[in-house]
Amino acid sequence: MFGSVLIANRGEIACRIARTAARLGLRTIAIYSTADAGALHVRQCDEAYPIGSAPAGESYLVIDRLIEAARQSGAECIHPGYGFLSENAEFAEACAEAGIAFVGPPPAAIRTMGLKGSAKALMEQAGVPVVPGYHGERQEPAFLKEKAYETGYPVLIKAIAGGGGKGMRRVDKHAEFEAALESAQREARSSFGDARVLIEKYIAAPRHIELQVFADGHGNAVHLNERDCSLQRRHQKVIEEAPAPGMSAGLRAAMGEAAVRAAQAVGYVGAGTVEFIADGSNGLRPGGYWFMEMNTRLQVEHPVTEAITGLDLVEWQFRIAAGERLPLSQDQVLLRGHAVEARIYAEDPARGFLPSTGTLLALQFPDGVRVDTGVEQGSAITQYYDPMIAKMIAHAPTRDAALDKLADALEHTVAAGPRTNLALLSALCRASEFRAGTFDTGFIERNMAILDVSGGDRAAAAFGVAELLARDSARIKRSMDRAAEMPASPWDATDGFQFSSARTVALSILVDGEALEARITYGSAATLEGPTVAVDGVEAALDATAIEAADAVYVLRRGRQTVVSRADLGAGDLHPGAGSGQIKAPMHGKVLALLVTDGEHVDKGQRLAIIEAMKMEHVLTAPSPGRVANIAVAAGNQVAEGAKLMTIETVD
Ligand code: ADP
Repeated sequence: MFGSVLIANRGEIACRIARTAARLGLRTIAIYSTADAGALHVRQCDEAYPIGSAPAGESYLVIDRLIEAARQSGAECIHPGYGFLSENAEFAEACAEAGIAFVGPPPAAIRTMGLKGSAKALMEQAGVPVVPGYHGERQEPAFLKEKAYETGYPVLIKAIAGGGGKGMRRVDKHAEFEAALESAQREARSSFGDARVLIEKYIAAPRHIELQVFADGHGNAVHLNERDCSLQRRHQKVIEEAPAPGMSAGLRAAMGEAAVRAAQAVGYVGAGTVEFIADGSNGLRPGGYWFMEMNTRLQVEHPVTEAITGLDLVEWQFRIAAGERLPLSQDQVLLRGHAVEARIYAEDPARGFLPSTGTLLALQFPDGVRVDTGVEQGSAITQYYDPMIAKMIAHAPTRDAALDKLADALEHTVAAGPRTNLALLSALCRASEFRAGTFDTGFIERNMAILDVSGGDRAAAAFGVAELLARDSARIKRSMDRAAEMPASPWDATDGFQFSSARTVALSILVDGEALEARITYGSAATLEGPTVAVDGVEAALDATAIEAADAVYVLRRGRQTVVSRADLGAGDLHPGAGSGQIKAPMHGKVLALLVTDGEHVDKGQRLAIIEAMKMEHVLTAPSPGRVANIAVAAGNQVAEGAKLMTIETVD
């Protein structure tokens, strides 16, 4: 076994790797960008080396700096985690050249599997079923369009160098092919420096079933059962579980065998994941699954496999990289109970899952579940890195019990500051169709309405108003009529006063950026005007937590965050881009394309501009019909969140 490891990553996965490394007695060496100087992963390691500025391209992705840090620290091996350089063959080669063990597969395996096209070709040869389509070299738009037609719509255009759902576009109609191709290629070029794509049949009701495999350097390979990662938004996983609902032992064995065959075909060593897409329309069945790709690294969702097998996959990675044999044979691999993981993201489900940056004003997790995180209260979620806050994993004897446990834990998680997907995640865990096992990768998109993630939590807002009043009594008093006679907060009115002379005052507030009028009836409870919800005895009835910030109160209730502030304090527009005809940048980013000109007439929903942020394209559309005026940016400009881009003037 090694004596030391440099962890070439950050955040939760760096912390998770450090935990196992420390248990195995390895000296742990962290690296960090300037944005991460005070980060948890730095503090959890024995040593830490600065490697550059905040953008990953100037730090976590600079191979020379990582190798230099490894040399300086005398690291015997490098664990790349996931993302960043984990699937970069040049990095694996640079490690080898520097005489440092790379905790991952051989560079050749990374290279072959890194390109979806060559991976599919190899799998075909190995007799592993692949999705029908075109994965050859030719890239002329007209040719690809013809291939799409031959494959039969709907098709999926995928960047061959792709990952994380980037450079991927579904096309339903022949006439829409060119535009989708252009957009996929643009995203592929900017994300991967490689614009090449392949065409695949779009599988209806697709389930994402992946097999965890492990191979050692002595010719042995096993699989550690499957994971179902079908709950996705924007083609990215948010809830993963093991085993897959509806999976039979026979099918598991067959898919496992195909996965092991895939690993052996590519000369694999270490931890890998073979991803299959299954046609879920008639349940999982033989002949109904196809190879999608192999990820040549540890997956984000590996903890569910650890839960059901009782293994530490990072320990296996270290042992295999050190030349040891696989510790178990296939028939010794366990499958106990059911595990579900939810990825808690700083993002806003009600606004197209836009990443939400900012300081975590509060962060607390309940007991009874596994939580892997790289942040804590006071940490900032920045635009530089993945906005994941934590992974939460529940393990129980049955699927229902695991989902209950996870939903409960999500609802008792306090995360204030950036918007989060906590409420969506718990709603998913409780959704009856998902519980029944009838779901596919389109489940979230189809069910956004019933998952109830938008729409204000009025009770929480009223609770927030009460908190505002209680904590801000002096200022409130000044702003109210006959202030001097009034108690500071409705909750303070515990004497007979409340019954004899209930008084009502109005207060202008912002609830999640929406201007509302709160009517506070002293001696009773806070009531919100708008769509009115009267809340009596709010404080007693609500299972909510209030977090106080400079000019707002964050109310956390069942995973949902409601931000209440006083409008007259000028708390600012919390939801730039909403209403008013003023088009603002919804986040920091770069204007990729401006699709309208001054004076142009646009319809509601018409595309106005494309902004790229965190390597994803976001399309801004017109909130109402009107005439474009005051265009303030040009393609190529960097814009800050909330920057005015243009206005849409109403015309009669
Ligand atoms: P990436 O490497 O960018 O994550 P994948 O090839 O792994 O891309 O696909 C990501 C997700 O996209 C899958 O989990 C699935 O939901 C969806 N997907 C991929 N291929 C298909 C397909 N042929 N038909 C339908 N959905 C697909």
